[in-house]
Amino acid sequence: SVSLSNMITFKELGLQEDILTAIEKMGFVTPSPIQEKAIPQILTSKQDVIALAQTGTGKTAAFGLPILNNLSTESQSVQAIILCPTRELCLQIAKEIETFATDMRGVRVQAVYGGADITKQIRGLKDNPQIVVGTPGRTMDLIKRKALKINDITWTVLDEADEMLNMGFRDEIDSILETTPEEKQTLLFSATMPSEVRRIASEYMHEPVEIAVSKINTASKNIEHHVYLVRSSDRYLALKRLADYYPNIYGIVFCRTRREAKDVADKLMQDGYNADALHGDLSQSQRDHVMDKFRSQNIQILVATDVAARGIDVNELTHVINYNLPDDPEVYVHRSGRTGRAGNKGISIIISGGREARKIRDLEKLIASKIDPRNVPTGEEIC
Ligand code: ADP
Ligand code: MG
Repeated sequence: SVSLSNMITFKELGLQEDILTAIEKMGFVTPSPIQEKAIPQILTSKQDVIALAQTGTGKTAAFGLPILNNLSTESQSVQAIILCPTRELCLQIAKEIETFATDMRGVRVQAVYGGADITKQIRGLKDNPQIVVGTPGRTMDLIKRKALKINDITWTVLDEADEMLNMGFRDEIDSILETTPEEKQTLLFSATMPSEVRRIASEYMHEPVEIAVSKINTASKNIEHHVYLVRSSDRYLALKRLADYYPNIYGIVFCRTRREAKDVADKLMQDGYNADALHGDLSQSQRDHVMDKFRSQNIQILVATDVAARGIDVNELTHVINYNLPDDPEVYVHRSGRTGRAGNKGISIIISGGREARKIRDLEKLIASKIDPRNVPTGEEIC
Protein backbone atom coordinates (compact mmCIF):
# COMPACT_ATOMS: atom_id res chain seq x y z
CA SER A 1 0.00 0.00 0.00
CA VAL A 2 1.07 3.53 -0.70
CA SER A 3 1.82 5.75 2.27
CA LEU A 4 -0.26 8.86 2.30
CA SER A 5 0.43 12.31 3.58
CA ASN A 6 -3.10 13.04 4.80
CA MET A 7 -2.75 16.73 4.25
CA ILE A 8 -3.80 17.78 0.82
CA THR A 9 -6.58 16.60 -1.50
CA PHE A 10 -6.39 15.66 -5.18
CA LYS A 11 -8.69 18.57 -5.94
CA GLU A 12 -6.22 21.00 -4.40
CA LEU A 13 -3.54 19.63 -6.72
CA GLY A 14 -5.50 21.16 -9.59
CA LEU A 15 -7.01 18.12 -11.30
CA GLN A 16 -10.23 18.43 -13.27
CA GLU A 17 -13.60 17.08 -12.07
CA ASP A 18 -13.94 14.00 -14.31
CA ILE A 19 -10.54 12.76 -13.12
CA LEU A 20 -11.40 13.47 -9.51
CA THR A 21 -14.57 11.39 -9.67
CA ALA A 22 -12.69 8.47 -11.24
CA ILE A 23 -9.96 8.38 -8.62
CA GLU A 24 -12.52 8.74 -5.90
CA LYS A 25 -14.25 5.63 -7.24
CA MET A 26 -10.90 3.88 -7.13
CA GLY A 27 -10.69 4.64 -3.44
CA PHE A 28 -7.88 7.17 -3.61
CA VAL A 29 -8.54 9.68 -0.86
CA THR A 30 -5.31 11.59 -0.47
CA PRO A 31 -2.31 11.88 -2.78
CA SER A 32 0.87 10.00 -1.92
CA PRO A 33 3.98 12.17 -1.38
CA ILE A 34 5.28 11.70 -4.93
CA GLN A 35 1.84 12.53 -6.30
CA GLU A 36 1.62 15.60 -4.12
CA LYS A 37 4.90 16.88 -5.54
CA ALA A 38 4.78 15.67 -9.13
CA ILE A 39 1.16 16.34 -10.11
CA PRO A 40 1.06 20.14 -9.69
CA GLN A 41 4.55 20.40 -11.19
CA ILE A 42 3.61 18.51 -14.36
CA LEU A 43 0.19 20.16 -14.59
CA THR A 44 1.48 23.68 -14.56
CA SER A 45 4.89 23.59 -16.18
CA LYS A 46 6.50 22.14 -19.28
CA GLN A 47 9.78 21.67 -17.51
CA ASP A 48 11.37 18.21 -17.48
CA VAL A 49 11.10 16.28 -14.22
CA ILE A 50 13.29 13.71 -12.51
CA ALA A 51 11.41 11.91 -9.76
CA LEU A 52 13.17 9.55 -7.43
CA ALA A 53 10.78 7.15 -5.80
CA GLN A 54 10.68 3.49 -4.89
CA THR A 55 8.16 0.93 -6.00
CA GLY A 56 4.78 1.29 -4.42
CA THR A 57 4.87 5.05 -4.03
CA GLY A 58 2.09 5.67 -6.56
CA LYS A 59 4.10 6.74 -9.59
CA THR A 60 1.56 5.72 -12.22
CA ALA A 61 -0.88 8.33 -10.98
CA ALA A 62 1.96 10.81 -10.41
CA PHE A 63 2.54 11.03 -14.17
CA GLY A 64 -0.73 9.54 -15.47
CA LEU A 65 -3.10 12.02 -13.89
CA PRO A 66 -1.46 15.28 -15.03
CA ILE A 67 -0.96 13.86 -18.52
CA LEU A 68 -4.65 12.90 -18.74
CA ASN A 69 -5.63 16.29 -17.38
CA ASN A 70 -3.69 18.15 -20.07
CA LEU A 71 -4.33 15.74 -22.92
CA SER A 72 -6.21 17.05 -25.92
CA THR A 73 -8.85 14.39 -26.30
CA GLU A 74 -10.19 15.70 -29.61
CA SER A 75 -6.81 15.11 -31.16
CA GLN A 76 -6.22 11.85 -32.98
CA SER A 77 -2.48 11.75 -32.50
CA VAL A 78 -0.21 10.13 -29.96
CA GLN A 79 0.72 12.72 -27.35
CA ALA A 80 2.32 10.61 -24.66
CA ILE A 81 4.76 7.72 -24.83
CA ILE A 82 5.26 5.95 -21.54
CA LEU A 83 8.23 3.61 -21.50
CA CYS A 84 8.58 0.89 -18.92
CA PRO A 85 10.70 -2.24 -18.59
CA THR A 86 8.28 -5.15 -18.93
CA ARG A 87 5.14 -6.36 -20.66
CA GLU A 88 3.39 -6.81 -17.31
CA LEU A 89 4.08 -3.22 -16.36
CA CYS A 90 2.89 -1.98 -19.75
CA LEU A 91 -0.41 -3.72 -19.29
CA GLN A 92 -0.74 -2.61 -15.71
CA ILE A 93 0.03 1.05 -16.45
CA ALA A 94 -2.25 1.11 -19.49
CA LYS A 95 -5.08 -0.40 -17.46
CA GLU A 96 -4.60 2.00 -14.57
CA ILE A 97 -4.60 5.03 -16.89
CA GLU A 98 -7.76 3.77 -18.56
CA THR A 99 -9.35 3.51 -15.15
CA PHE A 100 -8.30 7.09 -14.33
CA ALA A 101 -9.96 8.11 -17.60
CA THR A 102 -13.25 6.26 -17.06
CA ASP A 103 -15.24 9.47 -16.77
CA MET A 104 -13.41 11.27 -19.57
CA ARG A 105 -14.48 11.09 -23.17
CA GLY A 106 -12.46 9.80 -26.06
CA VAL A 107 -9.27 8.81 -24.27
CA ARG A 108 -7.56 5.84 -25.86
CA VAL A 109 -4.56 3.99 -24.48
CA GLN A 110 -2.54 1.35 -26.30
CA ALA A 111 0.04 -1.01 -24.79
CA VAL A 112 2.87 -2.22 -27.01
CA TYR A 113 5.47 -4.80 -25.98
CA GLY A 114 7.65 -7.54 -27.37
CA GLY A 115 6.79 -11.21 -27.50
CA ALA A 116 3.32 -10.49 -28.81
CA ASP A 117 1.78 -10.19 -32.27
CA ILE A 118 3.01 -6.91 -33.74
CA THR A 119 0.32 -6.68 -36.42
CA LYS A 120 -2.32 -6.59 -33.74
CA GLN A 121 -0.50 -3.74 -32.02
CA ILE A 122 -0.16 -1.92 -35.34
CA ARG A 123 -3.91 -2.23 -35.78
CA GLY A 124 -4.36 -0.91 -32.26
CA LEU A 125 -2.29 2.15 -33.17
CA LYS A 126 -4.60 2.81 -36.12
CA ASP A 127 -7.38 3.47 -33.60
CA ASN A 128 -5.52 6.69 -32.81
CA PRO A 129 -4.63 6.31 -29.16
CA GLN A 130 -3.39 9.48 -27.49
CA ILE A 131 -1.33 7.50 -25.01
CA VAL A 132 1.02 4.62 -25.79
CA VAL A 133 2.58 2.53 -23.05
CA GLY A 134 5.45 0.44 -24.32
CA THR A 135 8.64 -1.42 -23.70
CA PRO A 136 11.55 0.42 -25.35
CA GLY A 137 12.35 -2.27 -27.95
CA ARG A 138 8.86 -2.66 -29.33
CA THR A 139 8.18 1.06 -29.17
CA MET A 140 11.29 1.82 -31.23
CA ASP A 141 10.37 -0.91 -33.66
CA LEU A 142 6.91 0.60 -34.19
CA ILE A 143 8.38 4.08 -34.63
CA LYS A 144 10.72 2.75 -37.32
CA ARG A 145 7.81 1.08 -39.09
CA LYS A 146 5.98 4.41 -38.93
CA ALA A 147 3.10 2.64 -37.24
CA LEU A 148 3.68 4.83 -34.25
CA LYS A 149 3.74 8.49 -35.26
CA ILE A 150 5.69 10.79 -33.05
CA ASN A 151 5.21 14.27 -34.51
CA ASP A 152 2.81 15.35 -31.79
CA ILE A 153 4.53 13.81 -28.81
CA THR A 154 4.10 16.17 -25.86
CA TRP A 155 5.29 13.87 -23.08
CA THR A 156 7.79 11.07 -22.82
CA VAL A 157 7.79 9.17 -19.56
CA LEU A 158 10.63 6.88 -18.52
CA ASP A 159 9.11 4.75 -15.81
CA GLU A 160 11.58 2.68 -13.77
CA ALA A 161 14.44 4.18 -15.76
CA ASP A 162 17.12 2.37 -13.77
CA GLU A 163 15.44 -0.97 -14.37
CA MET A 164 15.09 -0.35 -18.11
CA LEU A 165 18.78 0.46 -18.36
CA ASN A 166 19.67 -2.62 -16.28
CA MET A 167 17.77 -4.67 -18.78
CA GLY A 168 19.87 -3.32 -21.62
CA PHE A 169 17.43 -0.92 -23.27
CA ARG A 170 20.02 1.85 -23.49
CA ASP A 171 20.13 2.17 -27.29
CA GLU A 172 16.38 2.00 -27.71
CA ILE A 173 15.83 4.67 -25.08
CA ASP A 174 18.46 6.88 -26.69
CA SER A 175 16.83 6.51 -30.11
CA ILE A 176 13.35 7.22 -28.81
CA LEU A 177 14.49 10.33 -26.98
CA GLU A 178 16.43 11.50 -30.03
CA THR A 179 13.71 10.97 -32.59
CA THR A 180 10.78 12.38 -30.64
CA PRO A 181 10.19 16.15 -30.89
CA GLU A 182 12.71 18.27 -29.04
CA GLU A 183 10.15 20.46 -27.26
CA LYS A 184 8.42 17.56 -25.47
CA GLN A 185 8.36 17.28 -21.70
CA THR A 186 10.43 14.35 -20.44
CA LEU A 187 9.50 12.78 -17.12
CA LEU A 188 11.99 10.36 -15.65
CA PHE A 189 10.99 8.11 -12.76
CA SER A 190 13.59 5.98 -11.08
CA ALA A 191 14.22 4.34 -7.72
CA THR A 192 17.96 5.05 -7.96
CA MET A 193 20.23 7.40 -9.89
CA PRO A 194 23.14 5.32 -11.22
CA SER A 195 25.46 6.98 -13.74
CA GLU A 196 23.57 5.56 -16.74
CA VAL A 197 20.40 7.27 -15.58
CA ARG A 198 22.35 10.49 -14.92
CA ARG A 199 23.72 10.31 -18.43
CA ILE A 200 20.25 10.05 -19.94
CA ALA A 201 19.16 12.99 -17.81
CA SER A 202 22.09 15.17 -18.83
CA GLU A 203 21.92 14.29 -22.51
CA TYR A 204 18.20 14.48 -23.08
CA MET A 205 16.64 16.60 -20.39
CA HIS A 206 16.62 20.37 -20.09
CA GLU A 207 17.13 21.83 -16.63
CA PRO A 208 15.03 19.14 -15.00
CA VAL A 209 13.25 19.75 -11.73
CA GLU A 210 14.22 17.06 -9.24
CA ILE A 211 11.68 15.53 -6.92
CA ALA A 212 12.58 12.96 -4.29
CA VAL A 213 10.52 11.18 -1.71
CA SER A 214 11.82 8.83 0.93
CA LYS A 215 10.83 5.21 0.80
CA ILE A 216 8.37 5.47 3.58
CA ASN A 217 6.64 8.70 4.18
CA THR A 218 7.75 10.03 7.52
CA ALA A 219 7.55 13.50 6.08
CA SER A 220 3.98 12.84 7.16
CA LYS A 221 2.97 15.95 8.98
CA ASN A 222 1.38 13.71 11.56
CA ILE A 223 4.68 12.64 13.05
CA GLU A 224 6.76 14.96 15.17
CA HIS A 225 10.35 13.99 15.70
CA HIS A 226 12.06 14.99 18.94
CA VAL A 227 15.54 14.37 20.20
CA TYR A 228 16.61 14.53 23.84
CA LEU A 229 20.34 14.93 24.31
CA VAL A 230 21.39 13.39 27.61
CA ARG A 231 24.43 11.85 29.23
CA SER A 232 24.55 8.20 28.34
CA SER A 233 24.09 7.28 32.00
CA ASP A 234 20.90 9.37 32.12
CA ARG A 235 19.02 7.56 29.39
CA TYR A 236 16.80 5.66 31.77
CA LEU A 237 16.02 8.76 33.81
CA ALA A 238 15.05 10.59 30.62
CA LEU A 239 12.78 7.73 29.61
CA LYS A 240 11.04 7.80 32.99
CA ARG A 241 10.53 11.55 32.78
CA LEU A 242 9.03 11.16 29.34
CA ALA A 243 6.68 8.43 30.54
CA ASP A 244 5.58 10.79 33.33
CA TYR A 245 5.24 13.70 30.95
CA TYR A 246 3.02 11.70 28.62
CA PRO A 247 0.79 9.80 31.07
CA ASN A 248 -1.45 8.48 28.30
CA ILE A 249 1.44 7.11 26.33
CA TYR A 250 0.82 4.00 24.25
CA GLY A 251 4.10 3.20 22.66
CA ILE A 252 7.13 1.09 21.96
CA VAL A 253 10.58 1.75 23.38
CA PHE A 254 13.13 0.35 20.96
CA CYS A 255 16.34 -1.07 22.39
CA ARG A 256 19.48 -2.28 20.73
CA THR A 257 19.83 -5.65 22.46
CA ARG A 258 17.68 -8.25 24.19
CA ARG A 259 19.54 -7.60 27.39
CA GLU A 260 18.89 -3.88 27.21
CA ALA A 261 15.20 -4.44 26.46
CA LYS A 262 14.92 -6.76 29.45
CA ASP A 263 16.76 -4.38 31.79
CA VAL A 264 14.78 -1.32 30.77
CA ALA A 265 11.46 -3.17 31.04
CA ASP A 266 12.37 -4.59 34.45
CA LYS A 267 13.30 -1.16 35.77
CA LEU A 268 10.12 0.42 34.42
CA MET A 269 7.99 -2.26 36.05
CA GLN A 270 9.85 -1.90 39.36
CA ASP A 271 9.26 1.83 39.17
CA GLY A 272 5.54 1.25 38.80
CA TYR A 273 5.00 1.79 35.08
CA ASN A 274 2.62 -0.26 33.00
CA ALA A 275 5.33 -1.81 30.87
CA ASP A 276 6.59 -5.15 29.62
CA ALA A 277 9.38 -6.56 27.47
CA LEU A 278 9.36 -8.26 24.07
CA HIS A 279 12.56 -9.83 22.88
CA GLY A 280 14.07 -12.99 21.49
CA ASP A 281 14.83 -14.61 24.84
CA LEU A 282 11.14 -15.13 25.50
CA SER A 283 9.33 -18.27 24.45
CA GLN A 284 6.72 -18.01 21.73
CA SER A 285 3.87 -18.32 24.20
CA GLN A 286 5.38 -15.63 26.43
CA ARG A 287 5.64 -13.36 23.43
CA ASP A 288 2.09 -14.04 22.36
CA HIS A 289 0.91 -13.25 25.84
CA VAL A 290 2.79 -9.93 25.96
CA MET A 291 1.53 -9.03 22.50
CA ASP A 292 -2.09 -9.75 23.39
CA LYS A 293 -1.80 -7.50 26.42
CA PHE A 294 -0.17 -4.75 24.40
CA ARG A 295 -2.67 -4.96 21.58
CA SER A 296 -5.57 -4.71 24.02
CA GLN A 297 -3.79 -1.73 25.60
CA ASN A 298 -3.40 -3.49 28.92
CA ILE A 299 0.26 -2.63 28.58
CA GLN A 300 1.09 0.99 27.82
CA ILE A 301 4.80 0.74 27.18
CA LEU A 302 6.33 -2.14 25.30
CA VAL A 303 10.10 -2.36 25.48
CA ALA A 304 11.33 -4.27 22.47
CA THR A 305 14.13 -5.10 20.10
CA ASP A 306 13.66 -4.47 16.38
CA VAL A 307 13.61 -8.16 15.58
CA ALA A 308 10.92 -8.92 18.14
CA ALA A 309 8.88 -5.89 17.10
CA ARG A 310 8.99 -6.73 13.41
CA GLY A 311 5.86 -8.83 13.33
CA ILE A 312 3.85 -6.53 15.55
CA ASP A 313 0.77 -5.33 13.76
CA VAL A 314 0.11 -2.51 16.20
CA ASN A 315 0.57 0.76 14.40
CA GLU A 316 -1.64 3.32 16.03
CA LEU A 317 0.87 4.26 18.67
CA THR A 318 1.07 7.65 20.32
CA HIS A 319 4.83 7.39 20.78
CA VAL A 320 7.81 5.57 19.44
CA ILE A 321 10.90 5.97 21.59
CA ASN A 322 14.37 5.18 20.35
CA TYR A 323 16.21 4.28 23.55
CA ASN A 324 19.14 3.84 21.22
CA LEU A 325 19.39 4.78 17.57
CA PRO A 326 19.67 1.87 15.16
CA ASP A 327 22.76 1.59 12.94
CA ASP A 328 20.66 1.52 9.81
CA PRO A 329 18.75 4.79 9.34
CA GLU A 330 15.99 2.98 7.43
CA VAL A 331 15.23 1.16 10.67
CA TYR A 332 14.47 4.51 12.28
CA VAL A 333 12.05 5.21 9.46
CA HIS A 334 10.30 1.89 10.07
CA ARG A 335 10.15 2.44 13.80
CA SER A 336 8.71 5.94 13.58
CA GLY A 337 6.23 4.87 10.90
CA ARG A 338 4.31 2.99 13.59
CA THR A 339 2.95 6.22 14.90
CA GLY A 340 1.08 9.09 13.28
CA ARG A 341 -1.23 6.79 11.36
CA ALA A 342 -4.79 7.34 10.26
CA GLY A 343 -4.75 11.05 10.84
CA ASN A 344 -3.64 10.74 14.46
CA LYS A 345 -0.71 12.71 15.78
CA GLY A 346 2.34 10.71 16.69
CA ILE A 347 5.64 11.50 18.31
CA SER A 348 8.89 9.78 17.51
CA ILE A 349 11.52 10.35 20.18
CA ILE A 350 15.24 9.79 20.15
CA ILE A 351 17.04 9.60 23.45
CA SER A 352 20.56 10.40 22.39
CA GLY A 353 23.56 9.76 24.58
CA GLY A 354 25.65 12.21 22.60
CA ARG A 355 28.07 12.08 19.65
CA GLU A 356 25.20 11.40 17.29
CA ALA A 357 24.74 14.86 15.76
CA ARG A 358 25.88 13.67 12.36
CA LYS A 359 23.64 10.63 12.43
CA ILE A 360 20.68 12.80 13.37
CA ARG A 361 21.36 15.24 10.54
CA ASP A 362 21.46 12.33 8.10
CA LEU A 363 18.16 11.10 9.50
CA GLU A 364 16.60 14.51 9.01
CA LYS A 365 17.51 14.32 5.35
CA LEU A 366 16.16 10.82 4.98
CA ILE A 367 12.81 11.61 6.55
CA ALA A 368 12.70 15.10 5.01
CA SER A 369 11.64 16.46 8.34
CA LYS A 370 13.17 18.32 11.25
CA ILE A 371 14.12 16.49 14.44
CA ASP A 372 13.54 19.01 17.23
CA PRO A 373 15.99 19.14 20.09
CA ARG A 374 14.10 19.10 23.39
CA ASN A 375 15.00 19.34 27.03
CA VAL A 376 14.08 16.46 29.28
CA PRO A 377 10.94 17.54 31.16
CA THR A 378 11.69 18.74 34.67
CA GLY A 379 9.80 17.55 37.72
CA GLU A 380 7.85 20.79 37.72
CA GLU A 381 6.80 20.44 34.11
CA ILE A 382 5.59 16.94 34.81
CA CYS A 383 3.42 18.08 37.73
P1 ADP B 1 4.64 2.52 -8.18
O1 ADP B 1 4.56 2.72 -9.65
O2 ADP B 1 5.31 3.64 -7.47
O3 ADP B 1 5.21 1.19 -7.79
P2 ADP B 1 1.78 2.34 -8.38
O4 ADP B 1 1.49 3.55 -9.16
O5 ADP B 1 1.79 1.04 -9.09
O6 ADP B 1 3.16 2.51 -7.60
O7 ADP B 1 0.78 2.30 -7.15
C1 ADP B 1 0.79 1.23 -6.23
C2 ADP B 1 -0.64 0.91 -5.77
O8 ADP B 1 -1.13 1.98 -4.97
C3 ADP B 1 -1.63 0.75 -6.89
O9 ADP B 1 -2.49 -0.29 -6.56
C4 ADP B 1 -2.37 2.06 -6.94
O10 ADP B 1 -3.66 1.92 -7.45
C5 ADP B 1 -2.37 2.46 -5.48
N1 ADP B 1 -2.38 3.92 -5.26
C6 ADP B 1 -1.63 4.84 -5.91
N2 ADP B 1 -1.87 6.06 -5.44
C7 ADP B 1 -2.77 5.94 -4.46
C8 ADP B 1 -3.42 6.88 -3.56
N3 ADP B 1 -3.16 8.16 -3.61
N4 ADP B 1 -4.30 6.38 -2.67
C9 ADP B 1 -4.55 5.06 -2.62
N5 ADP B 1 -3.99 4.13 -3.41
C10 ADP B 1 -3.10 4.55 -4.32
MG1 MG C 1 5.25 1.83 -11.30
